[in-house]
Amino acid sequence: MAVTLDPQLLDILACPSADHAPLTAGTPDDPAADVLTCTSCGRRYPVRDGIPVLLLDEADGGRPAADPAGAGDPETDGDSEAGSV
Ligand SMILES: [Zn+2]
Repeated sequence: MAVTLDPQLLDILACPSADHAPLTAGTPDDPAADVLTCTSCGRRYPVRDGIPVLLLDEADGGRPAADPAGAGDPETDGDSEAGSV
């Protein structure tokens, strides 16, 4: 069954990842799938009982954020690490 989300709702939903990109219903391979696919990172979020579960822990697939080929900058901001004591 295809995702039957309100287009207006889909319009305001965004990927919980750092890209905050718009989401699209279904997947490129299966437009009728009960998932929302991020248009940027490609993560797929399940839709359960008509409610999109926009949690990174629940996300499926997607491209890895770290690209080894592009790692030329030794400085890391550590945006996800709360290391301040
Ligand atoms: Zn994303």
